[in-house]
Amino acid sequence: MQAQPTAAAPASTHAATPTPTQANKPTKRTAKDYIFGKLIGEGCYSTVFLAKDIHTGKEYAIKVCEKRQIIREKKREYIKREKDALNMLFNVPHGFVKLYCTFQDDERLYFVLSYAKNGELLPYINKVGSFELNVAKFYAAELLLALENMHAKGIIHRDLKPENILLDENMHLQIADFGTTKILDPETIRSITVKTEDEENPATENDRSRKISFVGTAQYVSPELLHNRVDTRASDLWAFGCIIYQMISGLPPFRGSNEFLTFQKILKMDYEFPEGFPADAKDLVEKLLVLDYSKRIGANDVGDTYDSIRNHPFFDGINWDTVCTQSPPTIS
Ligand code: ATP
Repeated sequence: MQAQPTAAAPASTHAATPTPTQANKPTKRTAKDYIFGKLIGEGCYSTVFLAKDIHTGKEYAIKVCEKRQIIREKKREYIKREKDALNMLFNVPHGFVKLYCTFQDDERLYFVLSYAKNGELLPYINKVGSFELNVAKFYAAELLLALENMHAKGIIHRDLKPENILLDENMHLQIADFGTTKILDPETIRSITVKTEDEENPATENDRSRKISFVGTAQYVSPELLHNRVDTRASDLWAFGCIIYQMISGLPPFRGSNEFLTFQKILKMDYEFPEGFPADAKDLVEKLLVLDYSKRIGANDVGDTYDSIRNHPFFDGINWDTVCTQSPPTIS
């Protein structure tokens, strides 16, 4: 399909043709600087197209948002958070999609992103059923390094899941979708939690009138995000535990037939390990899936690395210095 949200013909009179590099973002782009190609995916508020820069021939994924929809659905904050987080992460060499530039016309906003050619992690898990241990270990290690980098900058993702983990042309992972991100103030970056306004008046088990509202996705949402009580990096560690479980067993640990039943399972810690689940992986998952966020492995680590997690026996054999540059093991 030749998708062209705006006139996509080359702009013959375009003057500046800066070359986008990791360190040097192009300036003053418009939709005319790109040839829009196939539709890559659709989100709730956006459509993502493959697009080619007419000046460099380089391919990008351009996320297009209709301004009217953003305003109608009150998602301005969502867009701003995504842009802020991606800008903060631009110079981190591995682990994240890169936002090269943004621009707008009368009707739409455009995010020019690095193109993660191999798409989402989820279909790979679904295709093979469950990853071999060395594969799960490798992607868990890459994900942990990305979490370290993100958390060091005070960014809590809050919606980590295999659909938001993309794979580049070399099969290295890149975290995407920062719309539900929480960016902590610089003074609070090192604290494990920041109270939200709701913590003054938290939901209780008996508070049936209070509607559960949460950010994230039901199967990966942490108990504290369900109650909207605190902003803590440990919420991403919970999702990390769910993802390790899923890479090894094929399905996320908490699965109800609807969101409410999934929430109940999370709050009751109602999940099981399938037979044959490797012991070290089980131990790590059990240490991540802990109701009390302050007791999760890694939650109290100081510094910018999660040493207690890196040193867990599950990661034996991982070289933390080369994991992002080595060839990933073949998914099987
Ligand atoms: P939400 O609906 O919560 O906004 P989403 O991730 O589904 O989240 P988008 O960010 O618009 O929404 O992405 C839609 C789809 O496009 C994604 O699911 C992903 O498969 C694909 N996609 C997004 N960004 C890229 C990218 N940089 N490279 C390759 N594919 C991408």
